[in-house]
Order: sequence, then structure tokens, then C-alpha cells
Amino acid sequence: MKATRLIALVLVLATGACGPGIQAREYSFFAFGTLVRLTLVGVNEERAEHARTWVASRLHHYHNAWHAWEPSPLTRLNAALAKGQAVTPDSVLQPLLKPARRYARLSGGLFNPAIGKLIGLWGFHADQLPAGPPPERAAIAALAGKHPALTDLVWRDGKVSSTNPAVQLDFGAFAKGVAVERIVTGLKARGFDNVLLDAGGDLKVLGTHGNRPWRIGIRDPDGQGVLAAVEARPGEAVFTSGDYERYFEWNGKRYHHLIDPRTGYPARGTHSVTVITQDAALADAAATALFVAGAEGWPQVAAHMGVSLVLLIDDEGVAHMSPAMAQRVKFVVEPAPPVVIEAPES
Ligand code: AMP
Ligand code: MG
Repeated sequence: MKATRLIALVLVLATGACGPGIQAREYSFFAFGTLVRLTLVGVNEERAEHARTWVASRLHHYHNAWHAWEPSPLTRLNAALAKGQAVTPDSVLQPLLKPARRYARLSGGLFNPAIGKLIGLWGFHADQLPAGPPPERAAIAALAGKHPALTDLVWRDGKVSSTNPAVQLDFGAFAKGVAVERIVTGLKARGFDNVLLDAGGDLKVLGTHGNRPWRIGIRDPDGQGVLAAVEARPGEAVFTSGDYERYFEWNGKRYHHLIDPRTGYPARGTHSVTVITQDAALADAAATALFVAGAEGWPQVAAHMGVSLVLLIDDEGVAHMSPAMAQRVKFVVEPAPPVVIEAPES
């Protein structure tokens, strides 16, 4: 989809009751390759319209600024890095660059926004999903073997260059989280106290839904239905990474978009990971990193990244949870999955 066509689309639903005298207004947009829903509780039509217009323009702005393959400030930076040039990144990239370095370091490199070339090689730098076959083994090994990392970037006098020609920036693993965090924080600053911003199941809330907490469904990675329900507390973000989001099948095997930077191949063993934290950017980065870490590695990476609410469904359908998540989550699928509870550990 062309960036220019990605302006907010339609107001789908006007108002709905969510308690005595309480009105919820819901609006839909299309950005970041997904349907984005904004729900506002307890505001009049005029204020809601202000919020809708502002959210639409912010989504449009971030989508265009941070796009990893349509021409954007990010693709221009990548082109300069590939030529070995030192350039001043467009200021619209600043909200990504600094937190990306921090999350990459805390995740031990499992969240690695420098692997854009690998993601492109697998065919995921396109609106259409790849049809296969998977890339040549040698091409994957050659790229993964160059170990592209954000630590290959050298900063001098506000300019950045790369010492590693294999580095290509792709912030797809947390750009949506950064955008959601900034937009919801902006709504709060504008006096909106009860908000849900849901970007295709990745969301952040403010306040409550009338006289009850926001109730969130976590998608069943084995189908279109809901696996579990959780009540989101004010300010919480809920982000999920799953092998069902973008993938192709080849010879009966699924190749999805969550790449293990250590091998260059889609990470194996995990079906989905849900993280709840106050910061949507961290929730997004951590969900991707913990997906790659898998059932064995997640407790350590979660501890380093400072997340305590984690639900990981492995490819056998077993639910691995932190004790804090076990207290919050209610499975709604029948039968409920087998559960392993494990504490994040440093
Ligand atoms: P998410 O759905 O938040 O997990 O993000 C998935 C997107 O992140 C992919 O489509 C890629 O663009 C990018 N990506 C895939 N694997 C990684 C990784 N290990 N580290 C950082 N970004 C990744
Ligand atoms: Mg993510």
C-alpha cells in the first residue's frame, strides 16, 4: 500500500453505551499495515473529532517517516549507510534510534533492528507476502555471518555511519509501539483520560472503560479466536508477536517474519508472545525479543529488559508464563493450554 494512501479512513462506529450514561466513541484508521482502532470514553463529539483528526495525522506521519521499504527518511538513511557515508539522520528518526540501541543491548541482540537486509532477503519488505521458496542457504549464512548490529553504527558530531556494510535499519519490531506510546501520551496531555488505541491487537489504554477496566482479548495463535482475556490497568500496553502474522509456507513448513539474528532464519519453537508493560515501545520490542528467545531463553531476556508480565505459547501449545501474568490472565479457549510458570531471572 502506498504511503500516500494511508490517511485515516473511516469513522466506523459512532457511539455505544458502556455503562449508565457513559458513551464510547470508536474510530478506525489504516496504518502500519493494520487496522487501528481508537476508542474514547466520556467525551463529547467535538472533542472526539479533535482527537480523531490528530490521531489520524500522527499515524500518517509516523507510518510515512519510519517505513522500511517505501521511500522514507529511513530508507534514505539506509541508502547513505550502505554507501559508507556519514549523514545526519532526519530528526523524525530520533524517537527510534536511541531506544532501539537500548533495547537491542538489553535483549542481548535478539531484538536487532540492524537486520533489515535479512528481513528483505526473506521477502518481508513488501506489502504482499512472499510465496517462497525460502532464500538460498548460502545467502542467509553470508548475511547472518556479518553480524549486523546497531553497535556497528559510529556517531560523530551528530552524523552516523556504519562500519558494517551488512547493516540495514528496520524498526518494524517496535515502531508501532513507539507510535502508540507517543500518540496515547499525546492524548493524555490533551486531556483525554479514558482511551484505547489498538493497532491490530497491539494496544495501550488510559483510564477505564466507563465503570469497568478495559478488557483485552489475546489472540489464539492457532486460529482467529481469543485465547485469553486480561484486564488492562490504566496506562498499560499489551503487545503480541506471533508466527501467524506474516508468513509463507513452502513444502509444508511455515516461514514467518520473526528472524533469529543468530541464525538468519525464522525463530523456531515459539507460536506467540504477549508482553504487558506501561511503555508500549518496550512492550513491542520485548515481545519480539522474547519470541526469538523462546521457551528456554525468555526468563533471562525478560529480566534484562525489565518486563514482568509475559505469556509465551510454544509450538506444542504450552503456555509459559511469569507468576505476575499467571495472576492476571484468564484462558477462554477450551481446553485451556497446559501451563508452565517461570519467573524472569537475571
Ligand atoms: P513484531 O510483530 O513487533 O514482532 O515485529 C515484526 C517485524 O520486526 C518483522 O516484520 C521485521 O520487520 C522485524 N524483525 C524481525 N525479526 C526481528 C528481530 N530479531 N529484531 C528486530 N526486528 C525484527
Ligand atoms: Mg514487536
